[in-house]
Amino acid sequence: MQVEIKKQSFSVTSFYDSAESSYVKEKEIIVIEARNVSSFENYSKEEPFNQLRNIINNKISNAEGLKLIFNSGLCGCGGSHIPLFKKWQAAVPYKPEFLVVNGLEGEPYTYKDYFIMLHYPQLLIEGITISCRLLEINEVYLLVNSAYKLAYENLTKVVSENTSLLKDINIHVMYGPNPDLYIVGEETALLNYIEGKRAEPRLKPPYPHEKGLWNKSTIINNVETLSWIPLLLKSPERFKNKHPKLVTLSGDVKLPGIYEVDMGDSLEKIIDKAEAEDLSFIEVGGISGGLIPKKLININYDVSGLSKLGLHVGSGTIRLFNNTRDPLLEMSKSTEFFKEESCGRCTPCRVGTQELLKFSQQLLNSNETDESINWLHSVSETMQQTSTCGLGKAASVPVVTYLKHFRNL
Ligand code: SF4
Repeated sequence: MQVEIKKQSFSVTSFYDSAESSYVKEKEIIVIEARNVSSFENYSKEEPFNQLRNIINNKISNAEGLKLIFNSGLCGCGGSHIPLFKKWQAAVPYKPEFLVVNGLEGEPYTYKDYFIMLHYPQLLIEGITISCRLLEINEVYLLVNSAYKLAYENLTKVVSENTSLLKDINIHVMYGPNPDLYIVGEETALLNYIEGKRAEPRLKPPYPHEKGLWNKSTIINNVETLSWIPLLLKSPERFKNKHPKLVTLSGDVKLPGIYEVDMGDSLEKIIDKAEAEDLSFIEVGGISGGLIPKKLININYDVSGLSKLGLHVGSGTIRLFNNTRDPLLEMSKSTEFFKEESCGRCTPCRVGTQELLKFSQQLLNSNETDESINWLHSVSETMQQTSTCGLGKAASVPVVTYLKHFRNL
């Protein structure tokens, strides 16, 4: 594993190299530039922790801070897209004791959280500390992907250099598992990992805000979500019409990178930034997202626009493919990935991911039948309705969207 860092750019050898799947063994160097991230660039022009100082000095009261977050409509950027305020509000009656910050970023081809932790560690620590003050939480576990060594070092340095500002808020910066396990990004598997238990999802309910770490109420937020908090306190007008979001654009493009976009813009406008070459099809939402052909890119990039095509925002990852690529092959790689990454705890996912892989291989060999297509749809539905966690619910999305948008099935 080599991670080469340049100013505002980073080159990452896929951190799935050491996992079992032949898909994830594919060696891949991804060079990512931070492009058009104006909110973050503006932050670096001012003194770090200004918004936290405003909270500490009562220039912004807790009530005002919470109101600004509520009005901003800021949503979870780790994949849920649940309004942050709603998540916090559900936890308050349980008196949350822990904040867990998920920086594992296990979704392949996703580097937005890495970008933040590497280049703007003060911003994240400021967002975490403001959240703790608003929620009256003193204990934080910040989980960093084990491949993100420089980011980890930057974060621990910021924490140790600012103890007087953090006061009685303890931020424990921890590495995630090595090699990275995709399933640990699932919120309850993450809790088990922190507790030193086998990292598999828990049954819900109870939800983490009811019984989380060591059975105490726990709030779990993503790195990007909390990093927006100082920015929205400073410039609430940025959130007035459209919700900003970081996306990772990669694939057959001239300008792969991290981009700041507005939710609700057309997908076409967003992907144009990366200058695709001979665009043929797109994967939206990461490997657990779905595939669509180029002709469908004129949709709104937000939860309701994407859901019309069976897609989701996910981790904000968008990959673009040119006309030498085969959507069937990409879909089949996704099924292999999920088969390898399923923790095997529940039957619909354990068996379902095997069935999805078997079916995709039938398609690759042109062996599919009406019967196997019907079986596939039935397996997908069962997985979506009965899997214990998000992995099993998402695993069939690449297959279903491929059949729908490329085969009219
Ligand atoms: S859905 Fe899959 S990954 Fe999630 S608990 Fe069940 S077997 Fe494990």
